[in-house]
Formats: sequence, C-alpha cells, structure tokens
Amino acid sequence: MLPLQNELEKIARKLGADMFGVADITVAQDFICKQGGESLRKFSYAISIGIRLLDSIVDELHRHKDLTTIFTYKGLYNTVNSRLDHIALLIAKRIQRADYQAYPIPASQSIDSDKLIGVISHKLPANLAGLGWIGKSCLLITPDFGPRIRFATILTNAPLNTGHPMNGKCNDCSECVNICPVKAFTGASFNPSDPREVRFHAYLCDRYSESRRAKLGEGICGLCVYICPYGRRNSESEEST
Ligand code: SF4
Ligand code: SF4
Repeated sequence: MLPLQNELEKIARKLGADMFGVADITVAQDFICKQGGESLRKFSYAISIGIRLLDSIVDELHRHKDLTTIFTYKGLYNTVNSRLDHIALLIAKRIQRADYQAYPIPASQSIDSDKLIGVISHKLPANLAGLGWIGKSCLLITPDFGPRIRFATILTNAPLNTGHPMNGKCNDCSECVNICPVKAFTGASFNPSDPREVRFHAYLCDRYSESRRAKLGEGICGLCVYICPYGRRNSESEEST
C-alpha cells in the first residue's frame, strides 16, 4: 500500500471508521458529472469510509412506530453522519497537505429536493472500491454488516491503490421489497445502466417519511435497513456468542 494511503486509512480507523476503500471512478465519470457537475471531472479517485451502526438500535426498528425506537435511531444516524463528516474533513486536509486536491462529500446531503439525490451517491464509490454491492433496497450492502453502515466519500486526484467492484449477492432474497410499507422497491436487481427509478420509487419513501413526521414528529423509518439478512445474520451470531 502507498504510504499516503496507509496514513489516510490509519486516520480513518483511529477516528472510528469500520470500513475504508478506494475506488477508481473514471469508469463512472460521466454519470458522476451529470449528477454533481462538471467540476468533479478532475477527480479520478474516491475514498469511501464507513461507520457501522449499532445492532442494539437497528434490531429494534421492527417497532418503527415506537417513539423511543425512532428517536434513538435518528440520534444514532445523526451522530454517525457527523463523525463521518469529521473524518472526511481530516482525510481531505491530509491530502491537501500532500499537494493534491480533495473534496469531501457529506454523509447525508440532498442537492435536489425533487430527485432526492446528493452530489454523488456514496454507494457508487463504495461499490467500485469493493466494500459491498447495491442491493434491491438500493442500499449499499456489505458482506459483514449488510446495510447497517453509513458512508461518506472524499474525491481526490491523489494517486491511490484501488479496489475492485463487488458483484451483487441478493440472489433470491426479497425481504426488503416485502417489508417496505409503501412498496417503494420494485424488486429489480441493480444494473448500472438503469436509472434508479427502475428499482426504487424514492418519492414513496419520502412521502411516507413526511407523513410520519407530521404524525410522530420524526419521519425516519429504516425497516429496509433492519430486515436485510446480511446485517441480521451478523447481529444474531454476535448475540449467540
Ligand atoms: S425507509 Fe421504510 S419506507 Fe423508505 S424505502 Fe425503506 S422500508 Fe420503505
Ligand atoms: S434484504 Fe435481501 S434483497 Fe434486500 S438488499 Fe438485503 S439481501 Fe438484497
């Protein structure tokens, strides 16, 4: 591993990151620039950092109408996002000190309230870096933690060693499709040439979130994060040890 890359991973892990990977994003540059703007074309690499959520909180999400459950999950979600943004900033500063450019993308951000998208989707570099695959839930699914992990991204022109994209492993599973209360997922598997709408009607999830916010004071649902067997399997095996 390159010395700078080694140092960046150490910074991330020391500050609480559970996953660290680097993607060659030149293969997806047109798609990235269409969403986030032409200024992103100067970046050939993306560093993907992930922090695992707590199973003790995600395991309760089947009670997704219980206020204690919702607000505890929301608190965790915000804390993890904020830590990811902090790590992304420190990584970007270290890259800048090495005379390269770095552009951190916040863990949770929407730049288009109609399409409900950010500067880039964090799932894309995480998948290209080999950290997981994009599931039928449109979440990034990791082999060890399922979707129970949040990501942030740092775009850079610093030359780094890159991973290899991970192929999907949803196979015949449809648990996220079946549990979604508003049927936001179509059940289609990820195909990079399809638009997101082929797999996910984001507006249905957003509308459900709005109605929950009006009724309960908080809209976050998380059933699709809870149900994925890749995350539950890990949680269950830890409980039995
Ligand atoms: S968060 Fe809830 S409503 Fe939204 S897609 Fe997931 S299961 Fe469906
Ligand atoms: S619940 Fe099943 S279908 Fe959905 S993302 Fe997880 S493995 Fe894939």
